[in-house]
Amino acid sequence: MEVKLLLSLPEGFEVTNIERTDGILTISAVSTQKSVCCPLCSSAATRIHSSYTRTLADLPCAGQQVRLLLQVHTFFCQVATCARKIFVERIAPFIEPWARVTTRLHQMVQVIGLATGGMLGARVTDRLGIQTCWMTIIRRIMALPTASVEEVAELGIDDFSFRRGRKFGTILVDMQSHQVIDLLPDRKKETAAAWMSTHPEIDLVSRDRGGDYAAGAREGAPQATQIADRFHMYKNLVEAVELTLARCRAEIRNGAFHALAEEEREMVEPQSLPTEFVSVENWKPAPDACTERERLSRRAERHDRYTQVMALRAQGFGNAEIARRVGLTARTLQNWQKKGSFPEAGRRRKRPSRFDPYASYVLSRWEQGCQNGSQLYREIKEQGYTGQERQVHRFLLPLRKNVRIIQKAQSAHLPLQDFSAHQEKMKRRWCMYMGRR
Ligand SMILES: [Zn+2]
Repeated sequence: MEVKLLLSLPEGFEVTNIERTDGILTISAVSTQKSVCCPLCSSAATRIHSSYTRTLADLPCAGQQVRLLLQVHTFFCQVATCARKIFVERIAPFIEPWARVTTRLHQMVQVIGLATGGMLGARVTDRLGIQTCWMTIIRRIMALPTASVEEVAELGIDDFSFRRGRKFGTILVDMQSHQVIDLLPDRKKETAAAWMSTHPEIDLVSRDRGGDYAAGAREGAPQATQIADRFHMYKNLVEAVELTLARCRAEIRNGAFHALAEEEREMVEPQSLPTEFVSVENWKPAPDACTERERLSRRAERHDRYTQVMALRAQGFGNAEIARRVGLTARTLQNWQKKGSFPEAGRRRKRPSRFDPYASYVLSRWEQGCQNGSQLYREIKEQGYTGQERQVHRFLLPLRKNVRIIQKAQSAHLPLQDFSAHQEKMKRRWCMYMGRR
């Protein structure tokens, strides 16, 4: 009886044996129920047909895995008209019919999964003596019913990425309960507007400072007041302050206005740029003047920091001390040291553009001597280009600024979307194979 209390087994079971083999605690119990209800007609049944053993995983005991061996009976249904002639006694809610784990273990895995996620959850359950895997934990979470979206008065909306930098969705949060209430498959204004139009009770929309969600809210929830959320306000403020400080750094350092003006001119109009080589796949439009000015200001600020680091190093300070003084991580300093010279910021990854499939064509036309942007725009428009003419001019800017685009012979007639590294690899293997024969 004490053992049963300790194990908290349901009524109608008698523990017959407990043994430990290979680190697993096996608890055998037998059903003592004399009368059970038919699951179909709910009438009482007392005639036992046969019995068999159910093997189930249960909650761990003192860090040991627990296996339950429950001997249960099958009964005859005594109602002549009932379609179910024989049935197994039910032990719900302790164990659901056909389950291989007890309900309490199932719930425990769900709780751990909700708190930690799949991979981390698997590490936690492993330490607790629960045998499961991250996939099962995810399945258990996914099996939980999704709460229906109730009325929401204050809605928070922002984007998130399914795959960083490639595929985005929209997250919707109830700003009063701080709960995520829905996810949308993209970040288009139409999708956001459609969702909001089904919630006429929204009276406040907290969003980023981009135009899409603003337009979506205007369309889908015209009754709502729109506000910029705190995160984006802070982010913009921090960026603006950093940029201002970067621009004013000479002024701050020397207190001399003319020095700043001179230096800024130098930064904005760098003299005689060397010819730069870019592949046709990475060919991207030149940044506008404002972005370029910002980039140069940030670069100048980094350069200042670099000079400061070099001066401290010359004075004999170690990386840890320099890091503390200039507010950088020791790792950054190590990387700088490894490079041996001022580390230029890496080029930003090129974003996919509608212009991409026509890049090779435009480049070959440019090399033939056609350097008129409007003419090139008309030509690729006839081939199906759906982007704007302005975009074509922006792509041509680097060419005008002495940047050489390297065109690969193979990719000359291949639209970039169709280019596949895997296909290229297979093609090369095929050529090698044929060559050997
Ligand atoms: Zn029945």
